[in-house]
Amino acid sequence: MSRFHTTRSLAAAASLAAFLQWQPSTADESTIDVVTSFSILGDMVTEVGGDRVEVITLVGAGEDAHTFIPGPSDVKVLTEAELVIVNGLGFEGWLDRLVEASGSDATLIVATTGIDVLAVEDDHHDEDEHDDHAEQDSHDHDEHAEEASHDYDDHDEHDDDAAEGHAGHDDHGHGPVDPHAWQDVTNAEIYVHNIAEALIAADPDGHEVYEANAERYLDELHDLDHDIREAVARLPEDHRTVVTSHDAFGYYERAYGITFIGAVGVSTDTDPSAGEIADLIRQIREEHIAGVFVESITDSRMIDRIADETGAIVGGVLYSDALSEPDGPAATYVEMMRHNTDMLTSAVSAF
Ligand SMILES: [Zn+2]
Repeated sequence: MSRFHTTRSLAAAASLAAFLQWQPSTADESTIDVVTSFSILGDMVTEVGGDRVEVITLVGAGEDAHTFIPGPSDVKVLTEAELVIVNGLGFEGWLDRLVEASGSDATLIVATTGIDVLAVEDDHHDEDEHDDHAEQDSHDHDEHAEEASHDYDDHDEHDDDAAEGHAGHDDHGHGPVDPHAWQDVTNAEIYVHNIAEALIAADPDGHEVYEANAERYLDELHDLDHDIREAVARLPEDHRTVVTSHDAFGYYERAYGITFIGAVGVSTDTDPSAGEIADLIRQIREEHIAGVFVESITDSRMIDRIADETGAIVGGVLYSDALSEPDGPAATYVEMMRHNTDMLTSAVSAF
């Protein structure tokens, strides 16, 4: 919340200052305003953009993008935006309506363009109208994104792949896709490439800065990915299953080999039924479930209840869809991934 407001009031102060100043501003003349949809993406854009960008984030630290309801101030932010960077894959189900309400003609970039999309395994979560709608939204804004990023020749092929992933859902009846792609650090590296391209296209004078920032950040991500693999490799192979509130860790599971069971589906906008919770409790008792984890963006009561009934260890708080506040343990994407890995591996080791 506070990060969002701070960023926005800084932006407001900056535009007021610009308005009051008759002479051309010396300081912020070359900064560009970039709107991002949620805190994790906002951090990545800040890393690549450095001092040349002012990042405005719609869904702030600790907030849930699945259930976010844009307000009038968000419409205003979109109206004034030149560049909007989103996750896509149905994560921002509210985005198309917001773009439409704002009349924005901003360039819309989908940061997940080119990733190997993960289909949802729908164990205990029925598709509902809302999910279908979100997928439809995602499909629509991917078309915008394809137009927006049409100039990047080397990514055209990837664009087609990503778009087909969504179109496939609508046109051929494939299941929905998992939007939480940032949970695999090698996907985050693709986000960074897409972000750098978008910033260079919007602000060509800054290309050396963006390329240098991206290169430094990609080195950091490469080390992060290596460290996570090493940490998980130390765990016994038959003790690598944990329970979380919602299915936010499918990409982490595919990349790093810890198995996650989510109590609800890939979105947080539905509650599990009594039967679904009973099934989950039975599964925890029957299998070697190392721990159950609360997520920062969701209510902890359901996980507490599951832990009570099964005797599973509550392994701590994981940050799945949003960063923590700046003084918390997951203030940046890199800190978030390290924190989650520490929580997961220490709970599994303690089992
Ligand atoms: Zn989520």
